[in-house]
Amino acid sequence: MKFNFITLFPELISPYFNASILKNAINNNLLEIHCDNPREYSLNKHKKVDDYKIGGGAGMLMSAQPLFDCLKNYKNSHIIFLSPVAKSFKQIDAKRLALKDEITFVCGRYEGIDERVIEYFANEVFSIGDYILTGGELAALCLCDSIARNIPNVIKQESLIEESFEDDFLEAPAFTKPFEFEFKEKRKKFYSISSLIKGNHAKIKILKNQLSLCKCKFHRPDLLAKSSNFKDI
Ligand code: SAM
Repeated sequence: MKFNFITLFPELISPYFNASILKNAINNNLLEIHCDNPREYSLNKHKKVDDYKIGGGAGMLMSAQPLFDCLKNYKNSHIIFLSPVAKSFKQIDAKRLALKDEITFVCGRYEGIDERVIEYFANEVFSIGDYILTGGELAALCLCDSIARNIPNVIKQESLIEESFEDDFLEAPAFTKPFEFEFKEKRKKFYSISSLIKGNHAKIKILKNQLSLCKCKFHRPDLLAKSSNFKDI
């Protein structure tokens, strides 16, 4: 899979791929990253990439010309714009997009992007939540990270199966071994749930379902409300 990032700040992108799973994915030729800066396409003698909004309004917009000239090189890829006004990115999108060969993320800056660029080039537009970031780079990296881990062999496939949102639910809370902790001269032992240690897989499955249900009720009752999926236990 190839990910292209169209960004005025390529230096924000590359460090994210210098560690851990995504670095391994690049080293194993499962992932390729490329950045392109619209500034290099600007026909303005000062390489300007922003302009005033027609009709007034605070702030500047990323102007159309540099982006049109840049994005025409990416027409054969799946072009995604990042915007706070768009639909929220979901796990189901990450899985679907992991099947593409090449995705191009267009990262906005300033007060956003001239709408004509989005209308002409966008295959999809995504938000990462109802809040405003200074630019689209973080949002693009969020999408890229979650898409990448769904590419075969980037992580172990069994790690994906029990994850939250796989079946509209949250993964059950998980624990490591019991441990002791000292604070203000008091020692406290933290136990884990004993049935999880005993190795009865049928019981563990039921317990995990119950814990998952509790977690959903507490954190995301909205998921339960819209699902008929949960096995009654
Ligand atoms: N003026 C715009 C508005 O009110 O809708 C916000 C522009 S924001 C300051 C600049 C850029 O950051 C956007 O063009 C977009 O690429 C990115 N961005 C900001 N918040 C985002 C979010 N929640 N999800 C995805 N991208 C976001």
